[in-house]
Amino acid sequence: MFKKLKEERTLVMVKPDGVKRGLVGEIVKRIEQRGLKLIALEMFQATKEDIEKHYSTSEENLKNMGGKLVSTCEKYNIDMIKEFGTSDPVKLGALVHSWLGEYLTSGPMVKMVVQGILAVEMVRKLAGNTMPAQAEMGTIRGDFSVDSGIIANTQRRAVRNVVHASGNVAEAEFEIGLWFKSDEIHSYKRAEEEIMF
Ligand code: GDP
Ligand code: MG
Repeated sequence: MFKKLKEERTLVMVKPDGVKRGLVGEIVKRIEQRGLKLIALEMFQATKEDIEKHYSTSEENLKNMGGKLVSTCEKYNIDMIKEFGTSDPVKLGALVHSWLGEYLTSGPMVKMVVQGILAVEMVRKLAGNTMPAQAEMGTIRGDFSVDSGIIANTQRRAVRNVVHASGNVAEAEFEIGLWFKSDEIHSYKRAEEEIMF
């Protein structure tokens, strides 16, 4: 049970805006500084088909992404029917899903597998809230992004928030399997493992 917690894995990607802004080192630094272990890393160019697979089109996931769009529209009094022809979170989530294909193929990304104690939750904390305005200072998104849901939605594009981090353990397992072959994932001990836990 403890071994499993210590060896939890998550997928992190520096999105094209993060790569173009030279933030790869900063992001890797924050992950390593926390005591989490990089066990795979590569720069690559994603295709739209890859991104379609990466973000699930399950009703649950579309509803989650569409829900964020709905909250933003409600907060800023945007008429969703007038703007997007629907207020259904699943349909709006499908719209966000299509914008992600454009965003994440707009330049190279850096993908990595990160392992360590509660890696999924720890890296989500490091990344911060999806929406830059709601991301705490000290998080990657809070410190390095300024885009807003409202501007992105009206421009029909995904929010530019520098980094991707798996949302839960099941998502992490799926995403790692999608982006890495098992022989591309490495095994070694970090000094912290003898000292910090
Ligand atoms: P994450 O896990 O924090 O990255 O958030 P999600 O899985 O909900 O969404 C995936 C990505 O879609 C986000 O990181 C954003 O780039 C984008 N996105 C999510 N919600 C919205 C939204 O309401 N509007 C727009 N324009 N983009 C969004
Ligand atoms: Mg997500």
